[in-house]
Amino acid sequence: MAFVIAAPCIDHLDQACVEVCPVDCISHDPAADRKAYIDPEGCIECGACEPACPQGAIMLDRQLPPVWAAFAEIDRGWWIDPEWARDAVDAQAA
Ligand code: SF4
Repeated sequence: MAFVIAAPCIDHLDQACVEVCPVDCISHDPAADRKAYIDPEGCIECGACEPACPQGAIMLDRQLPPVWAAFAEIDRGWWIDPEWARDAVDAQAA
């Protein structure tokens, strides 16, 4: 279980979450990504990023509404295959 960054981050990338994460498990490639991604293997569920996000994009994976359920796999997938995750984000934003 981990926190997840959902659709409201797309094309916003405020990055306040990156500043507050104590374990540096939030990342993205500024040249290629439309959102940031949380590493579910690194997230310690401290919750600091959730209120920091001005878009309300961050929540626990088990609390994702059905419309954003894919973002748990998208965040996990980016750390394995960033291109797959970017395509999945594009599909969610379409
Ligand atoms: Fe980082 Fe804590 Fe947010 Fe997990 S819950 S991504 S550890 S700030």
